[in-house]
Amino acid sequence: MSYAKRMGRLGTETAFEVLARARALEAKGRKVVHLEIGEPDFDTPANIRKAATEALEEGFTHYGPSAGLPEFRKVIADTWSRDRGIPCDADNVIVTPGAKPIMFYVMLALLEEGDEVLYPNPGFPIYESVGNFLGARTVPYVLREEKGFDLDLKELESKVTPRTKLLIFNSPHNPTGAVLSPETIQGMAALARKHSFYILADEIYARMLYEGRHLSIASLPGMAERTIVLDGFSKTYAMTGWRLGFGIMNKDLAVHVARLQTNSNSCTATFTQKAGIAALTGTQSTVEAMNAEFRIRRDTIVKGLNQIPGIQALMPHGAFYVFPNITGTGMTSKQLADALLEEAGVACLAGTAFGAHGEGYLRLSYANSLENLQLALQQIGEFLSVRTRA
Ligand code: PLP
Repeated sequence: MSYAKRMGRLGTETAFEVLARARALEAKGRKVVHLEIGEPDFDTPANIRKAATEALEEGFTHYGPSAGLPEFRKVIADTWSRDRGIPCDADNVIVTPGAKPIMFYVMLALLEEGDEVLYPNPGFPIYESVGNFLGARTVPYVLREEKGFDLDLKELESKVTPRTKLLIFNSPHNPTGAVLSPETIQGMAALARKHSFYILADEIYARMLYEGRHLSIASLPGMAERTIVLDGFSKTYAMTGWRLGFGIMNKDLAVHVARLQTNSNSCTATFTQKAGIAALTGTQSTVEAMNAEFRIRRDTIVKGLNQIPGIQALMPHGAFYVFPNITGTGMTSKQLADALLEEAGVACLAGTAFGAHGEGYLRLSYANSLENLQLALQQIGEFLSVRTRA
């Protein structure tokens, strides 16, 4: 059997592979603390589950419009224009099964072979994977610990060429937990206007911010036309398995993206969209409670990691990840991540799962109970102290 050449250019998301390895160890009776996968450990709030159940009973079990239910698109547009200052209406919104398809569709719709895409390294691996798959030239920009994992605008501009079609950024950021400064966001907007490229703003963690207010680049003057905001329900409302996300983009692009959806998923399940309406229009106290809990966990894990010799962690300002520097252990990221899984029963990801500039780091997701986080810290500490003595 021969496969299309492009398949050789498609990457993957290591989190799912590490999860499978961890589950295989568990099947053999080993105990593993899961800090690898980026999903809230909380249940989806009850009002959202109830809305889905009611929708199923009411017959929301059929195909819906490819772009999403009109009433849901309107609620999203109203909420995002009210809360984020993004000028939009329902026609700017395309609903998808999870937010990930927005990356895929938008890149499919925008990129010709040889067009250049700027993307963060370390960063969510799917940006590079899809860009390569489509035959685009993927150009990484580096996020450095010395800058608090914010980006260097001068370096970014030095990578812009006449073929630059798209700049992707993600704030709050996976895997570092960093939040880009307003100056950086304004600087990126200025570059996009000057060099006339599009921006894919991955704002999936925008509600998980531990201080300050989220600034959406699409709210800046002249930016709504050239920005695609990617967002969804997986993280904010603990709905990873529901597959519910969306993009906000200019209306022409929205027509193309809806057509890509017609050609692939057809539509997003309608009862989950009804649940999405309940999520946005119902109480937000559950979101606040989850975020308050994440903050306590963040403080615990960062403090604990910094007490382990060989490990140094910056304080993340958003999302639920910490990206400690592990160079002091003398091991590579992959060696340490593998050893922690096999020998210490802690599943986490090597920084290199997010690109070459992730070398020297691990990514730990603290979307787990305080008890499990403490257990993981203890096991990591013991593993490293035994290793240092050996
Ligand atoms: N963007 C980033 C940065 C993510 O970390 C993730 C999920 O891990 C997504 C997008 C995709 O989210 P969804 O589950 O809605 O497809």
